[in-house]
Amino acid sequence: MIIHVKKEIDQSIINEIIQKYDAFCFANENEYVVITSSSVKEIDAKFSNYVSESFVFETDIQLASKKYIPITRKVRLSNEIEIGGDTNNTVMIAGPCSVESEEQINQVAAFINQLGVKVLRGGAYKPRTSPYTFKGLGLNGIKLLKQAGSKLNMPVITEARDSTHINDVIEHTDIIQVGAKAMYDHGILNACGNSRKPVLLKRGFGTTLQEFVQAAEFILSLGNPNVMLCERGIRTFETKTRFTLDLCGVAYLKEYTNLPVVLDTSHAMGYAYGVPDLTRACTAMGIDGLIIETHPNPKVAKSDASQQLNLEEFEKMYHSLQPIAAAVGRKIV
Ligand code: PEP
Ligand code: MN
Repeated sequence: MIIHVKKEIDQSIINEIIQKYDAFCFANENEYVVITSSSVKEIDAKFSNYVSESFVFETDIQLASKKYIPITRKVRLSNEIEIGGDTNNTVMIAGPCSVESEEQINQVAAFINQLGVKVLRGGAYKPRTSPYTFKGLGLNGIKLLKQAGSKLNMPVITEARDSTHINDVIEHTDIIQVGAKAMYDHGILNACGNSRKPVLLKRGFGTTLQEFVQAAEFILSLGNPNVMLCERGIRTFETKTRFTLDLCGVAYLKEYTNLPVVLDTSHAMGYAYGVPDLTRACTAMGIDGLIIETHPNPKVAKSDASQQLNLEEFEKMYHSLQPIAAAVGRKIV
């Protein structure tokens, strides 16, 4: 249950409510927002004078639910760029899987910037499947990414692999990416909830939609409203492609949640040949954003070499998206 409580309430009474219902509470402009388990369906009558509005839910998808906020939230990514809300934007986020060197990240940033791409990605703490592969440049990688973005006035996004470096990610980047394998890391989720920076939460590849959105609830319930969901493929019986992009799940998220939805076609497909078509298909669904990996020379990329588009392939795909977006009332920004 979500309860809006008037600001003039005595602090001792709000504390009593929090204790009684084991609730979360944060303040927004006009009122306190108190969130209990969805098993709570009504609040004690003695508190009712303080309640301005209340919302009852069937499951613990509450703050993220369209039943609470009937439209997609708007999240500000930088002074110039917003995602979701009434913007009709499909925000393109692009860059290499990993920041590998100053030269590499600057080259990609300059290239995509002149095309019109506004948000730069690059991993620095890579959550690898084998311990013997490139783990990223760490803090130095984040700094190179930020430097490359700042020169071109592009906000940057990088992922946190675990909670030991989440504070560095929050400090040095504009958007926090929570990777598919890190989706259950409560150190990361709590730090994201206590920040007010935008968070791109990726769906774990073995995660149901309920679990996925509940992970977002951990962030939202601490008072950070700036959460975006990213579908990046789930594991199925199929092995010819790296993962299976769950577009039915995307339709569900658009219908039932109020969070902007971003599609990652690179990790879903796993092979560059399929990424442009898949990205066009996603664009036709009318989504809030895309995150695509591109590298100056994918053959020698230190991570995810098979799926990264080279710069020419990226450019060609990018130019093909605008008319598709326009056909569904959106624009690629
Ligand atoms: C990535 O974005 O490079 C990445 C590792 O993604 P995911 O967490 O979706 O696997
Ligand atoms: Mn990658």
